[in-house]
Amino acid sequence: MQRHPWVFSGAIERVDGDPAAGATVDVVDAAGAFLARAAYSPLSQIRARAWSFDSTQALDASFFANAIARACAARQPLLDAAHTACRLVHGESDQLPGVIADRYGDTIVVQLLSAGADTWREAIADALVAATGARCVYERSDAEVRLLEGLSPRVGVLRGTLPEIVDIVEAGIRYRVDVVGGQKTGFYLDQRDNRAIVGAHARGRRVMNAFCYTGGFTLAALAGGAASVRSIDSSTDALRGARENLALNPALDARRAEWSEADVFSELRELRNRGAAFDLIVLDPPKFAPTAAHAQRAARAYKDINLLALKLLAPGGLLATFSCSGGIDASLFQKIVAGAALDAAADAAIVGRFGPCADHPVALAFPEGDYLKGLLVRKA
Ligand code: SAH
Repeated sequence: MQRHPWVFSGAIERVDGDPAAGATVDVVDAAGAFLARAAYSPLSQIRARAWSFDSTQALDASFFANAIARACAARQPLLDAAHTACRLVHGESDQLPGVIADRYGDTIVVQLLSAGADTWREAIADALVAATGARCVYERSDAEVRLLEGLSPRVGVLRGTLPEIVDIVEAGIRYRVDVVGGQKTGFYLDQRDNRAIVGAHARGRRVMNAFCYTGGFTLAALAGGAASVRSIDSSTDALRGARENLALNPALDARRAEWSEADVFSELRELRNRGAAFDLIVLDPPKFAPTAAHAQRAARAYKDINLLALKLLAPGGLLATFSCSGGIDASLFQKIVAGAALDAAADAAIVGRFGPCADHPVALAFPEGDYLKGLLVRKA
């Protein structure tokens, strides 16, 4: 059998008894043979999510202690004095469907996104403390996907006390993470390696960072010696955070940074009309296509910004362009960027490919987890 963790409602012939949301059930085939031990979710189209494919595996607190200890141990090489944050648990790809845990120094932020994950909250919180010695576990289960599972938002401290300030270091750069009010769990850890790559290409270049959030690529580019960095985001809070982050790093030259609170689509047009030019452009938009059903509209949006960015690039300039849309795979994304280059009448070549950092694994049995892709494109 395949070890994909999801059982869709249409694949189920019969449910014995009336298991509660999040209850542990055994999934069996038509002949009654064991397939998986799973969490039941009566309201979701994903009716069951497998915890284990081993019929001898008991589903209890020690299951979570072991699975979380394993996931945390695998991240150990990613943490050192210059990197104090990483994802510890990445849901389905860590065999823990619906469980996300991000480490920010001594604070761990968890998202419990499925009925099963929600049911095991206490065991998961204990396991995270046991595996890491973290001082605080804070829950940010306020993602919309919980509604599909019939779960309302839940936020708050699960263990310890939340420090007033949560600071991290990534590649030697300091960032303040707003774990309470920031997007997702507060920081986009999946882009860590890609920020480092962009930083390594930034020396002497006029950089634009579109969809900058709290300034990850901006600070990486400044640390890499960018001549200037213009950062754009539509969120006032994100830009305030980005400016604060820059101020936390006195070694970076703040005079080289310019900020625009604006819609990227109109700002790129405006810059184009003004005849602006850049040598390195980062496009890291939010997911325009959460599922394949949104792909067509999303494709237009991706093409639009990539076309404008390619026009704004000086000859020899680099475009680091990303998509975190599950509904757009890497080959479709490449076609969209190719279409943008064609319409921009730009000769351009792929000189690098981006994916998520190693703390965001993609289980081979779970291709749906392969959401982040990106291209580094050089304009002739
Ligand atoms: N690159 C960032 C993460 C980007 S998240 C990092 O490394 O941390 C996407 C960002 O796009 C969010 O901050 C969101 O506020 C912003 N955003 C979404 N739609 C936008 C739009 N139309 N114009 C400008 N910013 C937008």
